[in-house]
Amino acid sequence: MTAIPQERRVVTAIPGPKSVELQARRLATVAAGVGSTLPVFTARAGGGIIEDVDGNRLIDFGSGIAVTSVGASAEAVVRRASAQLADFTHTCFMVTPYEGYVEVCEQLAELTPGDHAKKSALFNSGAEAVENAVKIARAYTKRTAVVVFDHGYHGRTNLTMALTAKNMPYKQGFGPFAPEVYRVPVAYGYRWPTGAENAGAEASAQAIDQITKQIGADNVAAIIIEPVLGEGGFIEPAKGFLPAIAQFAKDNGIVFVADEIQSGFCRTGQWFACEDEGIVPDLITTAKGIAGGLPLSAVTGRAEIMDAAHAGGLGGTYGGNPVACAGALGAIETMRELDLNGKAKRIEEVMKGRLAEMQAKLPNGDVIGDIRGRGAMIAIELVKSGTKDPNPEAAAKLAKACHAEGVLVLTCGTYGNVLRFLPPLVIGEDLLNEGLDVIEQAFSQI
Ligand SMILES: *Cc1c(COP(=O)(O)O)cnc(C)c1O
Repeated sequence: MTAIPQERRVVTAIPGPKSVELQARRLATVAAGVGSTLPVFTARAGGGIIEDVDGNRLIDFGSGIAVTSVGASAEAVVRRASAQLADFTHTCFMVTPYEGYVEVCEQLAELTPGDHAKKSALFNSGAEAVENAVKIARAYTKRTAVVVFDHGYHGRTNLTMALTAKNMPYKQGFGPFAPEVYRVPVAYGYRWPTGAENAGAEASAQAIDQITKQIGADNVAAIIIEPVLGEGGFIEPAKGFLPAIAQFAKDNGIVFVADEIQSGFCRTGQWFACEDEGIVPDLITTAKGIAGGLPLSAVTGRAEIMDAAHAGGLGGTYGGNPVACAGALGAIETMRELDLNGKAKRIEEVMKGRLAEMQAKLPNGDVIGDIRGRGAMIAIELVKSGTKDPNPEAAAKLAKACHAEGVLVLTCGTYGNVLRFLPPLVIGEDLLNEGLDVIEQAFSQI
């Protein structure tokens, strides 16, 4: 394996001719419902770079949606997964088990918040982990209702579509959805009517009032929340909100589930984002960053809750695949060795500093309504000048301008007006700054 030069290089139009040709083949044979942010076909990727089939090298500010935090070809991931591939690809853990699965569960017990006895179950995708967290919480509490939040995202399967807030594109036309799912307000500081400083207290009071008055706390099996909301727009619930909700869950025998699928594994500068407010969730769902790009997810939590499901009640043919487990052990090794929590914090410092300068310098600086996020999970919310009206057109134009110059950025948000940055945590600081230079130039073009 040769290391990919950590340099941006644009040698053709983006997408280039080979990508255009592959895209035509793709359109003829891949279902239209599966989209791509940028139809540039990948040849190889690693560090902070994605190299395409035309020889362009893009700076990666997406990490395949917060997955390749250790890079897309991290040495320890490749080494361990390759060795495992050569030994055996699969037995099914439910048929004959293997050590890698157990080792991943041991790591999860050690790394997740709280020093209580913990157990885990492994799955393939984030949505599958969330579904299983609901199964486990229902088995434990013998209750049915599930509470989720405005702007929340939990996946695309039938139950997780019901848990996800945003209709288009995730839910439109795909119902009916699973019952006993209830949505309550979240403390979205930037858009809270009485101001960010009141959002934590007011939103938690409203959420708790709705749960007690409309559902009945005794009927609630689980409250599921992303400690930093991902697809909904990188919303950090205002201070005090998460602790109030977690305390309410505790007081009422409700299983508090932190969905850390996007925010976990060093992404926000902590192993898990809920640590910033000292939250110890009953269950925690993880995926994305866990395995350096291999498909793996987990539910981890209090042993007595995790053990509530009867033997044979949890599992799946591929869940905790041995190659994916080896990848996870390599990814976790890399996170520890390279102090990727420290790296994430440094990325936040550089990005927020530069973005604030851009906001101050721009004649239309107020188009950047909000700069937020933690660690290497940073976003800018774009608004129409002088208002808080969402400006999805600006987000789309900026993304397009960045793509043309070889910087891969993603958008998100309920209103489609958030430009989000999720660089691999191993990105070099020069490359990070170069990506930010391109973003700055993109602003001058819109
Ligand atoms: C991506 C995501 C999911 C779904 O994960 P998949 O692997 O795409 O099924 C669930 N919750 C959160 C917070 C996510 O970001």
